[in-house]
This record gives sequence, structure tokens and C-alpha cells, in this order.
Amino acid sequence: MDKRNWKVETMAVQGDYVAGNTESRVLPLYQSTTYKYDTCDELAKVFDLEQDTCMYTRLANPTSNAYEAKLNMMEGGVGAMATASGMAATAITIMNIAKKGDSILAAATIYGGSVTLFSTSFPDLGIDVIFFDPDAPAEEIIALAKPNTKAIFGETIGNPAINVLDFDKFKYISETLDIPFIVDNTFATPILCKPLELGAHIVVYSTSKYIDGHATALGGMIIDGGNFNWDNGKFPGLSEPDESYHGVTYTKAFGPAAFIVKARANLMRNFGMTPSPFNSYITNLGMETLHLRMERHCENAQKMAEYLKAHDMCAWISYPGLEGDKYYDVAKKFLPKGASGVMSFGVKGGRAASKKFIDSLQLVSLVTHVADVRSCVLQPASTTHRQLTDDELIACGVSPDMIRFSVGIENVEDIIADFEQAFDKCRNM
Ligand SMILES: *Cc1c(COP(=O)(O)O)cnc(C)c1O
Repeated sequence: MDKRNWKVETMAVQGDYVAGNTESRVLPLYQSTTYKYDTCDELAKVFDLEQDTCMYTRLANPTSNAYEAKLNMMEGGVGAMATASGMAATAITIMNIAKKGDSILAAATIYGGSVTLFSTSFPDLGIDVIFFDPDAPAEEIIALAKPNTKAIFGETIGNPAINVLDFDKFKYISETLDIPFIVDNTFATPILCKPLELGAHIVVYSTSKYIDGHATALGGMIIDGGNFNWDNGKFPGLSEPDESYHGVTYTKAFGPAAFIVKARANLMRNFGMTPSPFNSYITNLGMETLHLRMERHCENAQKMAEYLKAHDMCAWISYPGLEGDKYYDVAKKFLPKGASGVMSFGVKGGRAASKKFIDSLQLVSLVTHVADVRSCVLQPASTTHRQLTDDELIACGVSPDMIRFSVGIENVEDIIADFEQAFDKCRNM
């Protein structure tokens, strides 16, 4: 049976793990840093990348490997590598292809942590990041590229702007510039969107969000589509010998898996942004219900968005699943199964009313997180964007009254009842 023909839901449940006779039916937790070998020659083969077994958990671990294989299968990649966090996945991905003197193109609307990584840490390493408006025409974005530009980066669904990526446009830019298209698919998951089928070459995740789904384990993942030609003269790190790994040339030795093998043998080996096996174990367990959770997240979010749109106390609402939303048509095209569970809205009465609304909620909690089973909210103006003035907030697309709302999988009637009592406390403010 070719597991690659399974539907994504079956892959989420079964994954690539096979239990032998009398062995654990559930993917076991290998809470071990180290692995025993019978002979020096055999261990040497592992060091030479000739034998693909575990020797030290910084590089590989059976639990993490099975979890990687599952997400890789669900995305349709040639290889995947789990990381300690979503930030680590993004950092390794860029550092695997860009070095001092290079630049990358990145959508300006990506996750705040990624903006900070790109606008401060990467320039310190000599890697420039050219930010662009993802809604700008392709030719305008192409014109920003330089000869040293090595990738284009965007998010399927932006956090917190909730904008949807136009895959056709990014694919066209990537092909025109002959650079890889990297996408952060955290908010969509492989259940709602499969970027590798839409022209992306590398997919990254913060698995801390929907993939784990229960807000218990921080983590990230990199999936290699194996569909970019690294031998085009722009990526000597992949197409020329790596002296740090006794002269291996990744494109020659590993063909389409060159990118992901280098990410592990070079970046992970040297930087050690490795997930704990326990986090891989628990995230893999969470993933077994990903398809069911995403279905309910989308269903509840759609109902909450429609409820908010019709509510007399709601000033505005942004959710790509709502007819009339700026991203409705793009979402219909690239997220046909649903627009995921995150939206933003404002309460009539401005910043103070939005604050009062959040403070009045009982079931829905105030947390610095999104995308888990429990409904939650955050007011960027009073928390993540607290240092900015109202004018500065508006300039970066965060209105002072914005509430970012991550819809959980509770019964939607209970979420609505909680919103009703909180809206009532904001009247006549
Ligand atoms: C949270 C998040 C990240 C960062 O992931 P961590 O696991 O918190 O390091 C990256 N991208 C997106 C879209 C996110 O929501």
C-alpha cells in the first residue's frame, strides 16, 4: 500500500509509523539523547550520511523522525525537519540558502516575531530583508529584487492582519526571479492549504499553534518540496562542496532532498535548535485530530464572523470567509475548505470599549497565543504593540480598538453567550 495515496485525514491519524509484532501501537516516546551501535564501522556510516539512523538527538530521534515523516507526508514533501520553535524553523530555512551579502524578499504583513528576526537579527548577520506589500502587483515586487536576492517569503494567512496570500502571484514572482518561494502555513495547516501544490518550494510552521492544537508544546517544522533547482548558480552552499561536512555536495549526493539534508547536517548540527523528543511526541498526538479540529475551528469562526458582522456593538470585522471581505475571493480560491479560526474586529467605542469587552469575557480568555482548542482574544494595542502611539498603530495596520480573536472548538452558542454579556457591559461607554 502506498501511503502517499492516502487522504490527508488518514495521514494525520496513521502517519508513517508502523508497529512491529508486539510493539507499541502508539508512536513511542524515545526520551534518549543517544543510540548504541555494535561496530565502529557502522557508526562511521551514519557520520558519512550513508546510513540514515539516529546517533545523537541533536540531529535525529526516532520519535521526532516519525512526527516529521507524518507532516512531510501530509504536505507532499521530500523531507521534513522538526525544530524547537516556529522561529527556529524560519531562521534555519533562510540561513540554509542565504549568507552574508545576500538578501531575501518578505511580505510586510508576516508575524511580528518574524518581522523582528528579519529586520534586526538578519541584518546583523549581513542578510538584508526587503519588505514588500503582498497586495502590490507582481511587477512592483519583482522590481524590488536585487541580483543577490535568494528567496521570497510570505504567510498563507497573515498574523494579525488576516490577509490571504495570492499563491499564483508569488509563484509567478518566484519563477521570474528563479528563487525559492517559502511560505509559513501556520494558520492554514495542510488540512486547509497544501502550498507545495500551489507553487511553493519550502513550507515552514510554528507547530505551537494548530498542529499541536492544545497549547502545550512549542515547536516548528520545515518541509522541503524537492521541487526547486538549486543548481542554478545562486546557491553555492547547496551546489558546491561543504567543507564543514567533509566536502559533501548536497545537490549531487541527495538530489531533490539537498535542501533538507543540508538544513540538518549543517544548520541543525551547528546551531542545535532541536525539539525535545517529548514535544515531538505530544505534538504528534495532537496532530491525530488536526483534521477534525480544523473543521470545527472553521465552522465556529464562520458563525462567529457572521454574528459579529450583524452585531450593533461591532465596529468592524475582518475574516476572509465573510462575503465582502477584502480577501474573500482569494480565500475561496486557495482555502476552499475554510478560512481557519482567526479573525480581528473592533468594538464600538474605540480602544477603551475593546479593553472593557476583553476584561468582561468569562469563557473566552485573554492570552498571548492563538490557534488552540480554547477560544482566546488579545488586544494588540495594549499588549504586543503597547509601545506605539495611536498614529503609529494605524500605520502598521493595527487599529487601537483591534481585538484579535482565535475561535476555539467549544460549542459556538456558549461563545456567543459570553460575547453577548461582554458587549452589554460596553454599551453607553
Ligand atoms: C507563532 C508564529 C510563529 C513563531 O512560532 P513560535 O513557535 O512561537 O516560535 C511564526 N509564524 C507564525 C505565523 C506564527 O503564528
